[in-house]
Amino acid sequence: MLVLDGLCAGYHGLQILHELDLRVDAGEIVALVGANGAGKTTTLRAVSGLIRSSSGSITFDGRRADGVRTAELVARGLVQVPEERALFGPLTVEENLRMGSWTQRRGGNEEAALAEVFDLFPILAERRRQAAETFSGGQQQMLAIGRALMARPKLLMLDEPSTGLSPKLTWAVLDAVRTIRDRGVAVLLVEQNAAQALRMADRAYVLESGSCALSGPGPELADDDRVRAAYLGL
Ligand code: ATP
Repeated sequence: MLVLDGLCAGYHGLQILHELDLRVDAGEIVALVGANGAGKTTTLRAVSGLIRSSSGSITFDGRRADGVRTAELVARGLVQVPEERALFGPLTVEENLRMGSWTQRRGGNEEAALAEVFDLFPILAERRRQAAETFSGGQQQMLAIGRALMARPKLLMLDEPSTGLSPKLTWAVLDAVRTIRDRGVAVLLVEQNAAQALRMADRAYVLESGSCALSGPGPELADDDRVRAAYLGL
């Protein structure tokens, strides 16, 4: 589904990612963990086309994705939920959701996608006419994920979806991520709650200074002494 091969990228000549290799297969949740500044967000930005890579390659769904505009990638099914959520505050829940389907104006797709989102997050259905800005952090995160799903992604990328959420809401959001995977959408997840992210991930990568230090099945990494000492504070 997604393959990064020797990816190098950074900002204004400052290289952050150093020959990063990473893969997300169809039907799996892949977690990206690592210390602050390791390059997790930079990886997502490079994949979404928000920054240009300087060498290496990004392949999505069998086609080169580096150098492709973000809007084109969304249309191909590669969709990122931004960390800051970027909702349209004065618009209602339903209006925000419908904004997400601009790539999908074909037949009844939009209504079907909306029904799926409401099924995943019933609170959004209950409050569909409420302005997004009146929502709590957890509800806004659900709305941001819902809006991304309206584009019918094949791969959904999430940047720290639990930021600012209570433990209970964090579980609710991560639970929804599992359901999304079970519905057939691959997920690349950057998460500050490394322990939770590793436990739920099919596979995971530990980033260190812009390259991969360790990788393997999520639960295995969660039990790895090096990971526990360095990243989980155990
Ligand atoms: P965090 O959990 O802190 O977000 P991260 O692993 O996501 O960590 P990145 O945000 O990818 O890390 O940052 C990697 C490095 O790139 C850091 O040294 C950071 O200071 C630098 N960096 C991030 N954004 C920019 C930018 N817009 N311009 C210049 N340098 C940046």
